[in-house]
Parts: sequence; C-alpha cells; structure tokens
Amino acid sequence: MLQHSKSLSFWKNGLLLSGVAVLALFGRRAMPSGAQSAQADSAVFSSQPANVGDAKIAALAYHDSGAYDHDLNEVAEKAIGWIKSRSRQVARPALVLDIDETALSNWEILQRDDFGRPIPGPCEPASEAPCGWAAWDQLGIDPAIQPTLRVFQQARALGMAVFLLTGRPESQRSATERNLAAAGYAGYAKLYMVPDGAHFASAADFKAPIRAELEKMGYQIVANVGDQPSDLQGGHAERSFLLPDPFYRVP
Ligand SMILES: [Mg+2]
Repeated sequence: MLQHSKSLSFWKNGLLLSGVAVLALFGRRAMPSGAQSAQADSAVFSSQPANVGDAKIAALAYHDSGAYDHDLNEVAEKAIGWIKSRSRQVARPALVLDIDETALSNWEILQRDDFGRPIPGPCEPASEAPCGWAAWDQLGIDPAIQPTLRVFQQARALGMAVFLLTGRPESQRSATERNLAAAGYAGYAKLYMVPDGAHFASAADFKAPIRAELEKMGYQIVANVGDQPSDLQGGHAERSFLLPDPFYRVP
C-alpha cells in the first residue's frame, strides 16, 4: 500500500511536472512577437544557415561603409611589404594575381545582379538591368582594384615577373586583355585563362598546376594574391594573400 501511495504520488507529481512543462511550452509560444519569442522559435531551427537577405544587406554595408576598401588596403600593404623585402633575395621572383575581385572589380554587376551570378544572358551597359556575367566580361569595363594595382606596380618596379591567373575562359581573352590595359595593368608577363570547354571542380585544380609549371620554368613565386581560398590552395607560392570577398564563392 505504501509502495502504491509512493507510486501514485510519483505519478501525480510527474503529471504535475509534465503539466508545468506543457504550460511553459505553450505559454512561451503564446507570447506576443518580440525578441524573446523569435529567440525561442529560432532555437527549433538550430541547423538553419544565415539568412541570404541579411547577408546581402551586410555585404552592401561592408562595401559602402569603406570597410571593404580598408581591408583591401591592409592586405595589399602586407603583400607590398613582403615583396619589397623578398624579391631582391630571389633570382627570378614572380607575383601571381587572380583577376576578378583581385585585379579588377565587378562591383557594378554584383549590385545589378543583387549578388546573384548568372553566367548566360545579355548585358546592356546603358541600362541598370541584371546582366549575364559572360556578357559583362566581354564588355571589358571593370575598374582596377586600386590596392592590387599598387601591388602590381610595386612588383614591376622591383623587376618581378607578374602572371595573371584567372578562371575566366579563353573566349574572353581579348576583352580581358583590353580591360586590364585600360585599368592600368601594363607589363605583365602572361595571362593564363581556362581553355574553352574545360571544367574544374575547384579553381585550385586549374591554378595550382600552373603555379607548379611556373616554378619548373625557373620562377620563384614570392607572392600569390587572390580573393578566394581556391586561388591560394595547392601551394607553389612562398606566401599567399587573401583579399576580402563576402560577395560570392568560387569553389
Ligand atoms: Mg577572383
């Protein structure tokens, strides 16, 4: 009997505790909308990634506040300091630069496309309509990223060979060469582009073997500069410099 009473008491207490838990749960859900309510709801979706709309707002603010330029300058100054100290100690020093969001800025199309990256489709420069990136590249109107241009100019002044290494296809060569010249990149040794029709799972699969090839040719790659980790992965550079780019990802 005593045992039964204990069990009953335990059962009753358990029911009471369960009831409190249910009330707490429903009470929390019944709260008016607000920070506390949103916090409780979001806990249900703990695996939910960052909101894309919020990320776009943050990316725009990062650019427009001047923080992006600040960070570009900071990386460029580090690269300039390094090549100044190192290039004279090396027989055939080389600098490798990526193009998009490294040597040249696509900020206009990034805004037009609301941070999307459609490759096909037309691009009308006179309008503000969204653009296909392939058509945009063929316009050849990207401005230089000035901090990178300073790295380039410093490398040339030091007598370094500069190689441009891009994921853009060969079909964009003449537009890209014209764009680089107009943006102030004069006197680079060679522009490496992806053969038309070739596909790589990662940009590193294309870029790292070309850096290895440059080493076999006798160059010592003192610095490699890019805006994507895949520009820098795979080695074959003494030091790598990653520029800020919260706008898109190239695997
Ligand atoms: Mg890039």
